[in-house]
Amino acid sequence: YWMRMGDLRVSDNRALSLASEQAVKDDIPLIVLFAISPQDYVAYDRSARRIDFTLRNLSKLKGTLADLHIPLHTIIHTPRRTLPSRILTLMADLGSTRLYANMEYEVDELRRDIEICELSKEQGAKMTFVHNKCIVEPGVILTKENKSYAVYSPYQRNWLAAVNHNIPHYLEDCPKPQPNSKSIHKSKKFAPLFDTPVPDVVDGFELQEDDRKRMCEFWPAGEDVASEILQRFLTTKVRSSQLGAVNPLAPGAEESTKSSRILTYDKGRDRVDRDSTSRLSPYLSAGVISVRACVRAAMKLLKTDKVDGSRTSGVGRWIQELAWRDFYTCVLAGFPRVCMGRPYLERFSTVVWEDHQSPEDSSRAAGEGNQDSEMLKKWKEGMTGFPVIDATMRCIKVMGWVHNRMRMTTAMFLTKDLMIDWRVGERYFMENLIDGDFASNNGGWQWSASTGTDPVPYFRLFNPYSQSEKADPSGDFIRHWVPELSKLRGRDLHKPPASLADELGYPRPIVDHAESRERAFRRFKNPGEP
Ligand code: FAD
Repeated sequence: YWMRMGDLRVSDNRALSLASEQAVKDDIPLIVLFAISPQDYVAYDRSARRIDFTLRNLSKLKGTLADLHIPLHTIIHTPRRTLPSRILTLMADLGSTRLYANMEYEVDELRRDIEICELSKEQGAKMTFVHNKCIVEPGVILTKENKSYAVYSPYQRNWLAAVNHNIPHYLEDCPKPQPNSKSIHKSKKFAPLFDTPVPDVVDGFELQEDDRKRMCEFWPAGEDVASEILQRFLTTKVRSSQLGAVNPLAPGAEESTKSSRILTYDKGRDRVDRDSTSRLSPYLSAGVISVRACVRAAMKLLKTDKVDGSRTSGVGRWIQELAWRDFYTCVLAGFPRVCMGRPYLERFSTVVWEDHQSPEDSSRAAGEGNQDSEMLKKWKEGMTGFPVIDATMRCIKVMGWVHNRMRMTTAMFLTKDLMIDWRVGERYFMENLIDGDFASNNGGWQWSASTGTDPVPYFRLFNPYSQSEKADPSGDFIRHWVPELSKLRGRDLHKPPASLADELGYPRPIVDHAESRERAFRRFKNPGEP
């Protein structure tokens, strides 16, 4: 079984389960392979945090699998284009004729998998790739014209109907792998595989020591941790003033089966001054927990055998978010141009940006050496003079994560208020988030920049001040992340008067929101014109 970056778990893992079933049938041992591919990580702007999280989870998995006498064999491979032949050579050396993997939908990964399928024919090896990332895999929910949906609401309605129509298929719990025979430890061929260590670090992706410590504290690795976070979300109340800078399992969450976080999610999910959401995204992105398990657990809580996807219930609203995850993966698979740095709405490919990033330069691999403009630097540092934007950017810098509402607000600020290319922001997020997922990140950025699947035209433009008042009514989020403003309350906190900002050493706004709004409308109305 070839384990990929998005399926770091033993439980409810389709490819692993199938591989195990086949191994038992053929009476041969099951081997798990993980290939670290640093050139891919550079090309996809993978954050050092995500790589570190991957390694921490792998090291836990190594132990879990070893208990089942299954070796987790880790290799580090360059150059990335030759990975298929390296894997086939490894299989030949082990006498293996079958390979199972869960599908990845990005263009490069699909090409790689097609190549390994082609090459494997010469060797007489059989490849099996299965869907595992989504509840409903790409290609199932299609419009009347047989095309991928590009608008969420009709997609979600059809998604819900499809799932409820065939719950055993879409929500099946795949059996855990069967243990190998203990005699594997005596095999000259297989026993050494137990000794290949999971590296502590990948060259070029080292984390500063304090950052690594923080990541371990905020985002502990392991399937047991992910399940515990899910359980807490289902059974404990929202904590006020939990602003993110704690491990999601920190004590102090009051239990409640009547008003737990999931049950109040429809009403409270947009509050960023509370721990209103699950904070499962790092675990879902890395596949440490299965999305099917999340839905099953939510259904069990409601004691129902139907999936609730309504807007008016906490559980339904949360399941809608999981459907967004499926939706963006379908967009990526259905419209592969979004993988190539191109906008979903091609008519906006000529919009004039202040800081432009060409699609060819849109990764760290090609764009090395590009200088950040002053505006971009201020956005990244959280020094824009817009408190909610600055709190958001500082939260990302420290935690590698921020609430969805704030991701949208800051993405819209960068692309509409500063008129900086969405690809620049998309890349910065990938380089800093611990939950970086291409489909959700690209989808979220393009939605916010109006180049994506938002059916509302480009004049959807958040006002950062009113967003701030709505999402952070207590002001705790801003005060926590922007300590210069910790004495302020009410309106002054959300929009500090110039004299007060000067006194507190806080920057004045780097743009005038009303003016930049007009500029954004003009540029989107007439793409290509300044
Ligand atoms: P909850 O509210 O508890 O939601 C549960 C799960 O549903 C999440 O863990 C996530 O897997 C999924 N989900 C929720 N909202 C969305 C959404 N809008 N789109 C897709 N899936 C969603 N999510 C990532 O996992 N990785 C990313 O790289 C990423 N980048 C984003 C960039 C931008 C500009 C925007 C606007 C959103 C992005 N998101 C991304 C989606 C969303 O912000 C996060 O999934 C969410 O904030 C995670 O917090 P949570 O786990 O507490 O979510």
